[in-house]
Amino acid sequence: MLIRGTFVHAPHLKGLEIHYDHLICVDKDGIITQFAPANAPESAKFLEAHPEIPVSEVPSGSFILPTFCDLHLHAPQFLYQGTGLDLPLMQWLDRYALKAELRMDEDSTLARRVYTRLAARLKENGTGSVLLFGTIKEATNLILAECMQAAGIRAFVGKLSMDIDITSPESTTKTYVEPSARAALETARSFVGHCRGIAAHLPVSQRLVEPVLTPRFVPTCTDELLHGLGALSAELGVKVQSHLAEAKDQVEWVRALRGIEDIDVFDKGTLLTPRTIQAHCTFLTAPDFDRLNACGTAIAHCPLSNAYFSAKPFPLREALDQGVKVGLGTDVAGGYSLDIMNAMRQAVVVSRMREGERQMDASANSADISIDWKEALYLATRGGSQALGLAGVFAVGAPFDAQEIHLYDPRTGQGIGSLDYFDLESDHGGPGVDNMPLTLEHVEKWWCIGDTRNRGAVWVQGNEIRNV
Ligand SMILES: [Zn+2]
Repeated sequence: MLIRGTFVHAPHLKGLEIHYDHLICVDKDGIITQFAPANAPESAKFLEAHPEIPVSEVPSGSFILPTFCDLHLHAPQFLYQGTGLDLPLMQWLDRYALKAELRMDEDSTLARRVYTRLAARLKENGTGSVLLFGTIKEATNLILAECMQAAGIRAFVGKLSMDIDITSPESTTKTYVEPSARAALETARSFVGHCRGIAAHLPVSQRLVEPVLTPRFVPTCTDELLHGLGALSAELGVKVQSHLAEAKDQVEWVRALRGIEDIDVFDKGTLLTPRTIQAHCTFLTAPDFDRLNACGTAIAHCPLSNAYFSAKPFPLREALDQGVKVGLGTDVAGGYSLDIMNAMRQAVVVSRMREGERQMDASANSADISIDWKEALYLATRGGSQALGLAGVFAVGAPFDAQEIHLYDPRTGQGIGSLDYFDLESDHGGPGVDNMPLTLEHVEKWWCIGDTRNRGAVWVQGNEIRNV
């Protein structure tokens, strides 16, 4: 595949790049083999050598961007997306989250229906890779993995592990727990094997789903289970995800029950490794971020659900300054939006509120702790991808995971969706779309108010999974 046009990506936190009139070459395995200016000698040489490959031209007013990475999403809770968010965390878990998970595990038809729709929505929102929390039952998580593989989405699927029941006596939900640590560990091992088997018949490059060990959070897991999962992760080389220091009541609960902090419980279970992604981490401090950086453990920052359930914003700038890998998560359904663009905006808004507070604190040090939209775009693409061992940029050797963004319609001469570029409109004296110089300001406007109407094709591993 050959695509010629404008490419935008963020290889570094402070380095959003626009590459004008570039040619990208993608081989049959979906790997980028060349990325250079269209008029560079290597591009001309490739075109000359391969006249049989058609060149897809990205229209003026459009650009190609890496797909988004959603680093934290509860797939079963998609059933109750946008419901009951006025409740405190533990009550919400009881009334909606656990109930959603139980319903999925009891009804495979419902699970397939919900997970198929989830995959379609992810594609609509430009999410090409996603780290998923599932349910307890192995078979339901295999359905989730099958739906993602069939949809062409790169999915890291987590079967929940939990051997302590947290449903309250007054709960509307029945008991939702595994019978013992031993049973939970056996099922986790079994799931890893079966999940890897789903795509085993395909060429390596087309295997898009990967199992993830998923202790729900400390209050639902005995030390025996956590230690067992730590050992299993090392033995099988499988990733781990959980929630760490998310909310005030949760942090206090762990302290009262275990006498130590969340982070120490995971550490003792050898669950803080480069294979681990921890959601939230809102209650961590600078020394904790140092520890995560030293362990290579990444953080899924979920600003929307933090606002609802954490009682405190995540110290994003501090985590980044300490060198911790950070990506963004929608945390559906603790967060109500599946669109990572909203997570980017919320991350910026929250950081600016924190910065405002810092400025009003006379004793605070002078460094700005806000992030800007370009840094948020990095987190949503490269940052999250790196947490999962993926690329998230356009580079030779990387898989072509990309989305086409349309800002301006050459046919109407106007912006698309909610975007208006008054100064460009040719019927009012502007230069017109054919002469549209795509600038950072144009991209910023899309970042602020763009939506699914601005999205065209989406590719994962070179396969076009959405064509509009
Ligand atoms: Zn979560």
